[in-house]
Amino acid sequence: MSGLSLENVTKTFGDFRAVDDVTLHIPNGAFVCMLGPSGCGKTTLLRMIAGLEEPTAGAIMIDGKDITPVPTHKRNFGMVFQSLALFPHLTVGENIAYPLRIRGVAQDEQRKRVEDLLALVQLPGYAGRPVSKLSGGQRQRVAIARALALSPRLFLLDEPLSALDAKLREAMQVELRQLQQKLGVTTIVVTHDQREAMTMADLVVVMGNGRIRQAAPPIEIYRRPADAFVADFIGSTNLLPVETDGGGRAVVLGHVVPGLALPAGVTKGLVSIRPEDVQLSQVADSGLPGRVTFVRDLGGTIETFVDVGGGTTLVAVTTPRQRGDIAAGAEVSVILPAESCVVVQE
Ligand code: ATP
Repeated sequence: MSGLSLENVTKTFGDFRAVDDVTLHIPNGAFVCMLGPSGCGKTTLLRMIAGLEEPTAGAIMIDGKDITPVPTHKRNFGMVFQSLALFPHLTVGENIAYPLRIRGVAQDEQRKRVEDLLALVQLPGYAGRPVSKLSGGQRQRVAIARALALSPRLFLLDEPLSALDAKLREAMQVELRQLQQKLGVTTIVVTHDQREAMTMADLVVVMGNGRIRQAAPPIEIYRRPADAFVADFIGSTNLLPVETDGGGRAVVLGHVVPGLALPAGVTKGLVSIRPEDVQLSQVADSGLPGRVTFVRDLGGTIETFVDVGGGTTLVAVTTPRQRGDIAAGAEVSVILPAESCVVVQE
């Protein structure tokens, strides 16, 4: 099978399973973000793909060939880690040319390649500058250019943007995605920032406790989370207890949700509904009765917190245009459109 395949990959440190039986196929040319809370095993998995860490069990295959025993320097993977490890005493050009020099690429060719790479990362004319005089974002681009110098088979990045401020990080996310699309190089990025993953990835891999909880395109993860952990980790969501009324209809806090059924054989679980899908009405109807406890007006969006009883507070998000005047203290009816509800298990 073409692409990168992880087959039952496990890594233990003593009796702790940092990565636990991970199986995943990444097609050639895909942009993958591995996402999950701190300590879930993302970096360990990336390091095993890179050949910096040996799996305790399982195999790593490229285009059907087992590369598990192949040492890092023979894998032809480009890598960028959080600490960029640029050589501070060298110029931008010398840093980028470094892997080419090690490979014995001719001087002229090195110069041409450095120019092309600098154009690619939008730093034309920077070859002679000292690395020490660059901004954080510029250093990041140099590290990316250096990692791409040998046209790697796979491009691996561990939290590459985490040292940048929020605005620059968002701009670099778009840049990185566009660069990857231009080159078509299979890319795996480790991040704990779900917005970053949603911006860049074809495939988001959500990890928890060393295992893959869900691997799917970003919008599918958002719309159809596999479980409560994924629903809560990706974006914000409301999680409400749900049970069947015996006839298959879904009951949330004592109220039937029209049109929502629990999957066959499931008697209870949680309903996940995104704040932008929750509808509030001031006309008493069949929705869940609730009381508005707080309104956060952020200008572009308004978040309305509603106490629906049973110790549960829901958040509804609207734009100022969509919403009538609902203030704290208002009695409202909360409508959960069945098509926006996903029944998940913990
Ligand atoms: P973060 O987002 O904080 O970097 P992560 O998801 O990348 O976290 P890993 O760095 O892969 O997590 O670590 C997973 C678990 O394995 C952690 O509990 C970590 O303490 C443990 N671990 C990682 N490397 C080693 C090691 N060399 N020896 C022992 N334990 C380790």
